[in-house]
Amino acid sequence: MSLERLPQQRIDEAVALLKRIEGEFAPAAFANSLGAEDMVLTDLIACHVPGIEMFTLDTGRLHEETYRLMQKVADRYDRPLRVYFPQPETVQQYATAHGVNGFYQSVELRKACCQARKVEPLGRALAGKAAWITGLRREQAVTRRDLPEHEFDAAHGIEKFNPLAAWSEAEVWAYLHAYGVPYNELHARGFPSIGCAPCTRALTPGEDVRAGRWWWEDPATRECGLHPARREKAAA
Ligand code: SF4
Repeated sequence: MSLERLPQQRIDEAVALLKRIEGEFAPAAFANSLGAEDMVLTDLIACHVPGIEMFTLDTGRLHEETYRLMQKVADRYDRPLRVYFPQPETVQQYATAHGVNGFYQSVELRKACCQARKVEPLGRALAGKAAWITGLRREQAVTRRDLPEHEFDAAHGIEKFNPLAAWSEAEVWAYLHAYGVPYNELHARGFPSIGCAPCTRALTPGEDVRAGRWWWEDPATRECGLHPARREKAAA
């Protein structure tokens, strides 16, 4: 498969940054959401950067297709994908107080659910780490237009790297196809961005790439708390 839509320099620069993180910011961990961008990083890290740990958050509300991809990652790569789950007591209290789908009632209850199922487990996953890595890209959302490759994550008190910040969607897909990397089946069914099943829908032609996430809310609130507003520090 041709890589004509993806300059080799893009790949080389991403691998160089990952190796720099491995060498200068250990221990570092890659938060793998299993989205298309994160499958590029999964492949790059598994093939080139043995010192970076990979983990994912299982909120308990993921699509069956995402669980199938999780299994494919475990089968394909000789690298563990550590899975973090929410605290059962917290989820139980939320469901008892607000209902299992209470997140549709208000932004506050939606954020409380994300806090319990994503943000708190992320904090446990990042405990003791010097840096973490994400597959965020600037093109993905109005809230990500100024995304740097390297920033300081004040919420967790560690460095944060976004090696694919400048990549286009076409470049992401060029990589996945060229290297035969598995990806979520839902991408072919109109889901460019995939999160929890009850909070993600397919897009109709012309809609913004993030329009299928928490679609009932104002676009300015559509973040889950994993990537809060930044306090700027020197970019790499
Ligand atoms: S995306 Fe939806 S189901 Fe998942 S943690 Fe957030 S509110 Fe809960």
